[in-house]
Amino acid sequence: MQDLSRAEQQVFSVLWRNKKGLTRKSIAKFTELSKATISRVIQQLKEKKFVKESDPLPTTDKGRPYSILKVNNEKLLIGGVYIHSKTMNVVLGDLSGRVKHARSLDHSRNDVLEKLYELPKITGNSFEEDMSKVLVFSIVTPGIVDEVTGSVIKSFYTPKKMVNLKHLGCEWKTTLEIENDANALLVSEMLLGSIPSKDAMYIDREFGASLVLNGKIFRGPHGGAGEFGHLQIDPSGPQCWCGKKGCVSAYFDPKNLKQNFSDLVPNSSQKMNDHSFLDFLSEMYSENHSKEFIRLFEQLLDKLAAAITNVVDLLGLETIVLNNLNPFFSGKAVDYLRKKVFELSMRHAELEMIILKVTEQKLLRTPLAVSIARILGVI
Ligand SMILES: [Zn+2]
Repeated sequence: MQDLSRAEQQVFSVLWRNKKGLTRKSIAKFTELSKATISRVIQQLKEKKFVKESDPLPTTDKGRPYSILKVNNEKLLIGGVYIHSKTMNVVLGDLSGRVKHARSLDHSRNDVLEKLYELPKITGNSFEEDMSKVLVFSIVTPGIVDEVTGSVIKSFYTPKKMVNLKHLGCEWKTTLEIENDANALLVSEMLLGSIPSKDAMYIDREFGASLVLNGKIFRGPHGGAGEFGHLQIDPSGPQCWCGKKGCVSAYFDPKNLKQNFSDLVPNSSQKMNDHSFLDFLSEMYSENHSKEFIRLFEQLLDKLAAAITNVVDLLGLETIVLNNLNPFFSGKAVDYLRKKVFELSMRHAELEMIILKVTEQKLLRTPLAVSIARILGVI
């Protein structure tokens, strides 16, 4: 796909956000473009099959007949794949983000790339759609994505090395967009969900974070922004795997927590897997366990609140989005966290904390949202 021009993006964006369609006059009001520019751009968007126009409708008063312009959902196809730790979900859909075809593929840590190479076969055989007809195809992946080079590092399938995915776009003859999973989910919720803000921080279940500033993902020069988990809360705190001491991730490391809470939790809980143990701690707090347990748990939440507040105050953010699959972002734990962050932050009157309920359906449409964001020019 040849990227849309700035004016085309502007017109397409207002039509995309106004699903019922708009007249030329309303488009002019929203975009502040001249009448002549709007006519030219609409003609271009119609030729590219992004936009369709209704037959002229007669007006009830003496005005000229007018037509309604809408996003053309019948002609163009977008798609993507979301790489999870054991499966990847391939999806194709329309320009509005509606899923048309979806399929889940199992993979192991070692064959993620092989499975990616097979995707055109999947879209051809299972969906009867040609990959080269897909306008934009997005790869949503854990790890750090360098936008410029198209390489992924620090993901479960890229041990100690960098994996470059950019060439897949040429092979598949489609426009490829590669996006980190936390960034992608935030973009998806802003475009297709109910997060209205143009500036927000999103924290996921492993304390990775994404930032949207001025309506755009903030990545840093090489995609490394958003390492919320490695904010140092106490330089003499527990050792973190990153080399520093006292990072958020170190305080919330299940191994450290098992040790710190060992006198306060039943012995059997020590055998739980990491996720179950964290869920268990959060549930114990919600059930008002012993005073000593509550004190220790709230000390932990105080550290998390301090880290969140530091970022909020530094950037002047007004929206915090928390993934509800993180055990510390649910139940009574998140109530306490909210109270603390509001107490500590300097602009608390404007602050909003949204708990994002991550569902299968939301994850499925996420790659489509990334493809739409590419077309709209917002990532
Ligand atoms: Zn660290």
